Amino acid sequence: VIIDGKKIANDIQAEIRNTILLFSGRKPCLAVILVGNHLASEIYVKRKTQACESVGILVIIKRMPSTIQINDLLAEITALNEDPSVDGILVQLPLPAHINPMPIIHAIQPDKDIDGFHPLNVGKMLIGETGGFIPCTPLGIQFLLSRSSIEMTGKHVVILGRSNIVGKPLAALLMQNTPDGNATVTVAHRHSTNLKELCLLADILIVAIGQPKFITANMVRDGAIIIDVGINKIDNPTQIQGYQIVGDVDFINVEPKCSYITPVPGGVGPMTIAMLLRNTLISYQNRLQLNKT
Ligand code: NDP
Repeated sequence: VIIDGKKIANDIQAEIRNTILLFSGRKPCLAVILVGNHLASEIYVKRKTQACESVGILVIIKRMPSTIQINDLLAEITALNEDPSVDGILVQLPLPAHINPMPIIHAIQPDKDIDGFHPLNVGKMLIGETGGFIPCTPLGIQFLLSRSSIEMTGKHVVILGRSNIVGKPLAALLMQNTPDGNATVTVAHRHSTNLKELCLLADILIVAIGQPKFITANMVRDGAIIIDVGINKIDNPTQIQGYQIVGDVDFINVEPKCSYITPVPGGVGPMTIAMLLRNTLISYQNRLQLNKT
């Protein structure tokens, strides 16, 4: 089965749109801070904006020059924290090299941190406490698996990659004692030895390393489930634009061996955006609830 992330994401977006229609008064609002003119960031922000607007979420884009100083960026975040009409704050990464992203992530009020990167939200997820925000890519992967009726309990999940935005939070999420968790999780990285043998142990192999077509057919056991998070641009003169987007998995050769696989594009990517909308809606609902009491 090729898991259709685009369709699942569209279904979730339709559910979000219908929920938002039930509310009168102000609409949910996401504020996006975009620093500099990073081309990929511009594209991501455009996609996120289009998706928000398609479900009825307002988007405010705050553009900042790449020369901005950290104090000015922090002041902008403080203003958005204090603005009662803003439900979510997203700082598009990467930031220019002279700005350390950690103080920026810390500055976002945890109840507006719809990316789920603030240490309070990360901690809540790790200890299995509800009410925090879960990072969009791991949450999107969990939704992809559950909406494809893939049972997780007792499965051996091998995750390649240990970044703070994908690998680590995903491991924490899938090991929780929850109906969509309860997996046995192994996390591998550049220093892991016997990578091929580890991959062959996986019932579910999730790859988030940013290495084009790294996972080959001989690294996958028959019937495994493959989730490809990677987004890599490789040269391809046969394409009009001269390049193509591929994942971390050699899709053509791996696909015949596995039971389920996500394509790139059209797998995890659209789910990440759908979860951003979902987290923003939850923040909006939380805020309305607080204002009532
Ligand atoms: P990072 O560069 O932050 O992390 C990559 C991780 O992969 C690191 O832990 C690194 O190990 C590990 N790694 C890299 N090469 C190897 C290797 N040869 N063998 C074993 N481990 C390796 O990347 P991200 O987590 O931010 O992103 C990973 C990929 O996912 C990228 O292609 C990115 O574009 C994509 N992505 C896709 C999203 C989506 O919505 N579909 C969202 C976010 C990311 P070490 O820690 O030892 O350096």
